[in-house]
Amino acid sequence: MGEPLVVMKDVNKHFGDLHVLRDINLEVASGEVVIVIGPSGSGKSTLCRTINRLETFESGSITIDGDPLPLEGKSLARLRADVGMVFQSFNLFAHKTILENVTLGPIKVRKEKKADAERHAMELLERVGVALQADKYPAQLSGGQQQRVAIARSLAMRPKVMLFDEPTSALDPEMINEVLDVMVQLAKEGMTMVVVTHEMGFARKAANRVVFMADGQIVEQAPPSDFFTNPQSDRAKDFLGKIL
Ligand code: ADP
Ligand code: MG
Repeated sequence: MGEPLVVMKDVNKHFGDLHVLRDINLEVASGEVVIVIGPSGSGKSTLCRTINRLETFESGSITIDGDPLPLEGKSLARLRADVGMVFQSFNLFAHKTILENVTLGPIKVRKEKKADAERHAMELLERVGVALQADKYPAQLSGGQQQRVAIARSLAMRPKVMLFDEPTSALDPEMINEVLDVMVQLAKEGMTMVVVTHEMGFARKAANRVVFMADGQIVEQAPPSDFFTNPQSDRAKDFLGKIL
């Protein structure tokens, strides 16, 4: 594993009176795959959204590959390109083809030539197994296929780190593995990933570390084998008792 790529130091965030992130200290090394788990409402989505600057924070610092998070403007657009994000809902553009969904960002934000963007997009669609769907529209694809397109769309921006916020929780059960397989492959290829998921199979296959959150705090972190068999805190024991 390489240099620290994402570094959060003493990050605090409130929504009004709700202290949603409390003194978050988290480092993710280049090539590392970190799973974030914890009860609903513990701040997992807010953590991801803060890393991507979709949310502001009041104190502390976050750097991506050494650069502090910019507030706005061109540098923010660049940061967003460095930090890919895949959400529970795939949010593809309904009136654009699959290929156009993947090439739009590279052409608009990265100023890639259309032919180059299309060549790269086809490679990525091939990699996630939906190349045959390139000329179709999102509604013509299954949920699992759409989520794989969403992953390809993020990868098209050549991100340094990928954030996944419960990427399989809106999918029918039979489609979950086809998305997880793509993520496992990505992890094997060395992509730095922060993944909010309760999918233990993925955690065991691909994660280097599990971060357990409760009430806006990181309560404990450990390699998956240790965490799932021997959680230390009562909160983690209680939580695992409910999901396993
Ligand atoms: P998780 O992803 O772990 O379920 P979230 O990060 O979504 O948790 O939410 C953490 C807490 O912050 C919850 O209590 C949630 O209701 C609250 N929250 C999330 N987003 C907002 C918002 N935009 N405004 C106010 N409260 C929010
Ligand atoms: Mg969430």
